[in-house]
Amino acid sequence: RSWWDHVTPALKDPINAVTDAFLADPCPYKINLGVGAYRDDEGKPVVLQCVREAEGKIGGTNFLESTSTAISSKLVEESAKLIYGEDSDVIKEKRFAGIPALSGTGACRIFAEFQKRFYPDSTIYFPDPTWSNHRNIWGDAHVPGRTFHYYHPDSKGLNFVALMDDVKNAPDGSFFLLHPCAHNPTGVDPTDEQWREISSLFKVKNHFPFFDVAYQGFASGDVERDAQAIRIFLEDGHSIGCAQSFAKNLGLYGHRVGCLSNLTRIDCFSILCNDKIQAVAIKSQLKQISNTMYGSPPIHGISLVSKILSNPDIKALWLKEVKVMATRIQRMRATLREALERLRSPLNWQHITNQVGMFCFSGLTRAEVDQLAKEFHIYMTHDGRISMAGVTTKNVDYVARAIHEVTA
Ligand code: PMP
Repeated sequence: RSWWDHVTPALKDPINAVTDAFLADPCPYKINLGVGAYRDDEGKPVVLQCVREAEGKIGGTNFLESTSTAISSKLVEESAKLIYGEDSDVIKEKRFAGIPALSGTGACRIFAEFQKRFYPDSTIYFPDPTWSNHRNIWGDAHVPGRTFHYYHPDSKGLNFVALMDDVKNAPDGSFFLLHPCAHNPTGVDPTDEQWREISSLFKVKNHFPFFDVAYQGFASGDVERDAQAIRIFLEDGHSIGCAQSFAKNLGLYGHRVGCLSNLTRIDCFSILCNDKIQAVAIKSQLKQISNTMYGSPPIHGISLVSKILSNPDIKALWLKEVKVMATRIQRMRATLREALERLRSPLNWQHITNQVGMFCFSGLTRAEVDQLAKEFHIYMTHDGRISMAGVTTKNVDYVARAIHEVTA
């Protein structure tokens, strides 16, 4: 008997499972629409020019020391400006606590631990559906997950009425995870007006909104526009938590750069206000949690992101490049829909262009997804989520024809 006889294989991550199946397929014209990573119109990964410029500027730095407080603080401050707004009072008054995190996943994981530590009996509500890893992340922190209505399969849009009902019926003071833009996997975002209503109801119910920002810039092409949901919650005086990932919008998947921030009380107008003291306390706890998980965060990616966000010329270049990526995806949405309509598909494909961000929640059934893989060598997750970044000018007609064949 060996020590680990009782270890059985873990469940496969659904997205990695798609990649494995894709890699195992010898077909030369196979297409991977599974992974949520940006690709150019040649289907190639992209290194952004702004990253190259920043590399040039930070080159020669000694990366052998561990990440200093100054380097961490810079990343946190720049990330906070990006999401809360350059001129936000939150920044000026230092009413937030933040630490660098290992991309979006790491930021969520630290928050989940933090939530468990200070609200040990709490649960968290996830949109139905959500990124498959959310439940695992909070589950590993022993925070039970529940769901709230989000997507409506008939309209392939937002089920706003049911969402509001669930927010209303959740016990006062519940934690909710929200995607502020480019929802994964549905590509369905509330309108500004709907966000205002959600924010007002959260206020009445005293719920805590935790925003998972994995695709800032990918919904509209404009990072400021994509922060609008969070700005609405800020205006309404919420205390909020926020996980930011730079994996997608800077193409830094492998560097694992992210930020976790948590706003302190913001309804305090007195100079005796203890917000700053609270921010210091929260930050020290977040740091303690990250210390026991991985010590300090890796320095190179943090230095790159700090440079890009703090250098006006490089940041301007980045904003243009985000726009280029988002526009290519929007163009592919329109082209895929047109191609399906040209084929006289009996189905309505309006949602392809109504949905935003990296993903299209196509409505394809599991059987249709299986058939696409088997007969057409096109791979996507079983829920019918298409990563639009995998669609290119060259393969879009083939993808449309294949979808038409399996759905007609
Ligand atoms: N949140 C959401 C909604 C995501 O889609 C992802 C990536 N798939 C993440 C967080 C985490 O991404 P990363 O850890 O690569 O930043």
